[in-house]
Amino acid sequence: MLPQPVKRLFTPGPLTTSPSVKEAMLVDVGSRDDEFIAVVRDIRRQLLALGGVSQAQGYEAILLQGSGTFGVEAVLSSAIPPQGKLLILINGAYGERMLAIANRHRLAADVLRWDENQITDPQAVRRRLDQDPTLAHVAIVHCETTTGLLNPVEEIGNLARAANRGFIVDAMSSFGAIPLSLTAASIDFLISSANKCIEGVPGFNFVLARKPALAACQGNARTLSLDLFEQWQGLEANGQFRFTPPTHALLAFAQALRELEAEGGVAGRAKRYQANHAALMAGMTALGFRCYLPPEHQSWIISAFHYPNDPAFQFEDFYRRLARHGMVIYPGKLGKVACFRIGNIGRLTARDIQELLEAVAAVLREMGVRTPVAPPR
Ligand SMILES: *Cc1c(COP(=O)(O)O)cnc(C)c1O
Repeated sequence: MLPQPVKRLFTPGPLTTSPSVKEAMLVDVGSRDDEFIAVVRDIRRQLLALGGVSQAQGYEAILLQGSGTFGVEAVLSSAIPPQGKLLILINGAYGERMLAIANRHRLAADVLRWDENQITDPQAVRRRLDQDPTLAHVAIVHCETTTGLLNPVEEIGNLARAANRGFIVDAMSSFGAIPLSLTAASIDFLISSANKCIEGVPGFNFVLARKPALAACQGNARTLSLDLFEQWQGLEANGQFRFTPPTHALLAFAQALRELEAEGGVAGRAKRYQANHAALMAGMTALGFRCYLPPEHQSWIISAFHYPNDPAFQFEDFYRRLARHGMVIYPGKLGKVACFRIGNIGRLTARDIQELLEAVAAVLREMGVRTPVAPPR
């Protein structure tokens, strides 16, 4: 029935989940059941707590069907008013995706771009906001999953707030495993999804929003199904999604949140992922691989590695052979540089990383790649 052998996912999502998270889905619930509505309510409350805020402090959590991109699209197409203008900070593929969304909805958008190995520069953002008072919102990616780079979200949020601009953060691949407080970073809208660091299964995304910013979305939406304001109003009115909710994914997520708490919350999860990351870096370096990012910008979420400088190395072949060992890695997403990626997130421990490293060494031998080390830049 299941694909065999069961594979371990060293990717940016979907991720390896625990057996108990998968088991939580073995029940059918009605979307109007009181028990189910209570599950949705508890999830919304717990997500706010993970962001360091609460409803009493004026924040709201909205759950929405679809993968993470649907959440980003819901926020951008609901938060930017008809005459509004958005500044998008880009240093990777997920920043580019925000621009693609803005373009598709014909939102007025300016961009500031950095190389994929450079963090966003708060001073450049400040200058641009000073020059253009019509820029009403700033959007950024917290952990750029293209490389694993971590952007200085707090600094940029605080300067956006000081300049009275809205602040939108794609925290898809960091939320739940890298501490981030909506108040400390002056965030108006934070977007993440069920199948990243909270270790649920795919099926929905969520938005944490400052209530006045959310209320200001009324009437802006360019689509019916991704109308963030109406989704919120629906959840508030009767606790239900407007359209069929991913009931099984929500049950799995409720279990995933219990397991996050049992692990010691964000700090506990960060600790395990940090250990995974350290084991990965040590092992890959010992095998002769070189990481794309300088260590000072590298998060513990995911890492990009240069291809070995050897014609015997073909990524597709490498990928398939690792998959046969039960290990799933991820292709690169960089504009110019040939890299592949390995994620540390999901229900994985340093032992899984060790086994992955053994498989990588075996596959390199099988392929006859003798010099995995690429020459220094
Ligand atoms: C995973 C991810 C997304 C969303 O991707 P989906 O495939 O739509 O889930 C968006 N931004 C970042 C930074 C991500 O890591």
